Amino acid sequence: MEPLATATSNGLADESIVQAALAGAAQRPVWHDVDARDWPVTTAPSSGEVDVAIVGGGFSGLWTAYYFSLARPDWSIAVLESQRVGFGASGRNGGWCSGMFALSPSELAEMFGRDAALDAYAASFATLGEIEAVLSRERIECDWHRGGSITSATIPLQRTRLQDDLATQRAIGINEADLRWLSADETRAEVNLADTYGAVYTPHCATVNPFQMVLGLARVLRRRGVQLWESSPVSEIAAGVVHHTANERPGAVRAGFVVQATEGYSPSFRQTRRALVPLYSLMVATEPLSKDVLAQISWSRRATFTDGGRMIIYAQLTADGRIAIGGRGAPYHFGSRIKPSFDIDDETHRRIVNGIARHFPAAAGARITHRWGGPLGVPRNWTPSVVVNRAERYARIGGYTGDGVACTNLLARTVVDEWLERDSPLRSLAFVGHHPPEWELEPLRFIGVNSLIQLSDSIDSFEARTGRTPRLRTTLIENLL
Ligand SMILES: Cc1cc2nc3c(=O)[nH]c(=O)nc-3n(C[C@H](O)[C@H](O)[C@H](O)COP(=O)(O)OP(=O)(O)OC[C@H]3O[C@@H](n4cnc5c(N)ncnc54)[C@H](O)[C@@H]3O)c2cc1C
Repeated sequence: MEPLATATSNGLADESIVQAALAGAAQRPVWHDVDARDWPVTTAPSSGEVDVAIVGGGFSGLWTAYYFSLARPDWSIAVLESQRVGFGASGRNGGWCSGMFALSPSELAEMFGRDAALDAYAASFATLGEIEAVLSRERIECDWHRGGSITSATIPLQRTRLQDDLATQRAIGINEADLRWLSADETRAEVNLADTYGAVYTPHCATVNPFQMVLGLARVLRRRGVQLWESSPVSEIAAGVVHHTANERPGAVRAGFVVQATEGYSPSFRQTRRALVPLYSLMVATEPLSKDVLAQISWSRRATFTDGGRMIIYAQLTADGRIAIGGRGAPYHFGSRIKPSFDIDDETHRRIVNGIARHFPAAAGARITHRWGGPLGVPRNWTPSVVVNRAERYARIGGYTGDGVACTNLLARTVVDEWLERDSPLRSLAFVGHHPPEWELEPLRFIGVNSLIQLSDSIDSFEARTGRTPRLRTTLIENLL
């Protein structure tokens, strides 16, 4: 593994050095280094019957199984996973357990009304407390650390935009305790960024090692008698029957209720062909930083970090002192295809590595030890949903648009309460019964999604260069969204 070397005067590391650093990095999530799975693979039976079958062994599926097992301890519950649990986004994300949705409170209010938006946000903020309580009750070790989150303005234009947006959120009823402005000095006291003009801070974010959280949860489920059927890809869900292939043989399991929890992988199912598109998010991790570098960065509360640009980047300081940083911007693939080779994209990884030099120059010399990526699920209106079809004994949850670590828990509790018709405030959340519009047919989808990605990137570059917003491109992007 090559060192990244010092940043050049424009805040970017030398391209050839970045390329060499990436070439030496292991191509797997840093979280997977300790795969402490202490159970053998059990595949789905060729036939059988359960009370609840859950398709997908990520956070959505595992949390759903967990809350069903609490509510109905005598029910038979099975999770069918095509690979191993945590194979998808849940085992490879940035480890932000955030109370913020992809859409801001005011954006949700435009769609569902002010009260519904505030209710959704209150439920989401409370979800962090719920997760923390489960981790403690079930003794799940996953480096949970509640340090909040900052969205920093790296250019003056971003400060204006972030402050205007904060005023909008305040006007609809989000209070100071949930979102507040930090001056540039206060921001630097959180983390010593190369450039900051102030930041928005929220306390509603924790960092985790997401893969450890998946494995911890899976272990709890096994103790509670939930069946984890791995290496059992499901080919079809039809009226209470889950068709799968295990050990190269087709099988079918009957279920009183089926929950589809396949997020970015959903386009391969008849019910959800155009419900979500898989967008790739990519990440890198540095080696554990030296004491000296950590002292220079001075990431005091380990609040997660993003900037005010349109192309999302996100970083956390891990429990063992690495910077784990990711970003969007990798291309969307025609027909919503997913392939392991799409997890690695040199151009996107280079841009992410440059983000280290740009924001944390003291870490520019750190080795890049891992790089990886994976698909997350994006509905056409960026809004999560819980859809329950009683006649078909079928439900699906998802559509987190890259903010699923906390929201999976919220929607899992919601789908359980909804199916059991419990007296629960979660059933009134705006996401219940919400059907986002479908994505366009190809090739429009391909052109639209990739245009969005390229426009976001080019607007950020223009703003950084000129300090102004490019009007035409901004109008174009707003029309595409
Ligand atoms: C690189 C990256 C960084 C991210 N960073 C963050 C972050 O910091 N914070 C945050 O909140 N969110 C983040 N996200 C998004 C977050 O990880 C997801 O929203 C969340 O994990 C979704 O969980 P899930 O269980 O719904 O989906 P997944 O974890 O994707 O699980 C779906 C599962 O279904 C399985 N499956 C697929 N097809 C089939 C089939 N036919 N039969 C059976 N099983 C099947 C898959 O193997 C997979 O295990 C990130 C995502 C990525 C990719």
